[in-house]
Amino acid sequence: MENAFFAAPERAFGFAFAGAPLDRASEIREDAAAIRGLRERGDARFVLIGRDMPILTRGELRAFLFPLKTLDDLGGPKSEALLGLQSDGAAVFAARLHDEAIEQRADLSDGFLDRRELVIPGQADLELVDLRSIAVQGVVAPMSVATLGQAKAILDWHARHGFCANCGAPTRLAAVGWRRECDNCKAHHFPRTDPVVIMLALDGERCLMGRQRRFPKGMYSALAGFLEPGETIEEAVRREIREESGIECGRVRYVASQPWPFPSSLMIGCLALAETRDLKIDAHELEDARWFDRDEVGAMFEKRHPDGLAAPNRMAIAHHLVRYWLDDRP
Ligand SMILES: [Zn+2]
Repeated sequence: MENAFFAAPERAFGFAFAGAPLDRASEIREDAAAIRGLRERGDARFVLIGRDMPILTRGELRAFLFPLKTLDDLGGPKSEALLGLQSDGAAVFAARLHDEAIEQRADLSDGFLDRRELVIPGQADLELVDLRSIAVQGVVAPMSVATLGQAKAILDWHARHGFCANCGAPTRLAAVGWRRECDNCKAHHFPRTDPVVIMLALDGERCLMGRQRRFPKGMYSALAGFLEPGETIEEAVRREIREESGIECGRVRYVASQPWPFPSSLMIGCLALAETRDLKIDAHELEDARWFDRDEVGAMFEKRHPDGLAAPNRMAIAHHLVRYWLDDRP
């Protein structure tokens, strides 16, 4: 029988970007000869990113792992990282194309979804698709979404760290994509992950959800915010709930976490026990926040809420955090 204390709810969750299948093989990152050998093997594959969007083949079977020749044909990498090894030892790299290889035809982004229309001129069989849409629409297998997320996060970091934060000189890529080095001041820079707390405050049979103005119409979700320096996860959970809703919380419990590559966050999912009831909403952060009882949340999940209110999409940890509370009665 499973020990309830160590039960791993994240294994049962179906949220996106978790469960990357590759062996990260960090022990070979400094071995340039081994990396060169793996890269030139016929079975080496490349996740290709243009601007910050993954490249997929068009058609029914949406492939996203390309041979070296495709990368070379598209002008080679601007930056590259070893994502890891497949179970048969074949290497998978992430490569970001030069921006000039990509053409932007339109930008219909609405602040929530990335709706830039990007194309690779002369490559009618390839398509750039934003990662949120890939995750929401399920056009590749869930484990593949994790690999695409890993690729996007590490390459976004390189794209934004071309200069040393210590002295301002240009930095160069090292350790096959897992470090940047400054030759001027000798500083080493490592890929960042930014922790975000995302949580439900609970009041008996009710949970607290809010909505930001940029959310799709009718959608309510868990409150969230960045962890600040010098804060524990529990303190950040209590502070964010207090700032956004005026609710004071006591005990906090961690549930699960989700990599969120927009650009490089880690969502830390928690439940918190409310000690007050009266809401005082921060209008800068939230358009609205409310207590929801179990029946109402159930109706939101089943898309039969009388006011058309909706739960967050199942790609997001917020969806599973709410469902966990709904199903498991902590
Ligand atoms: Zn420097």
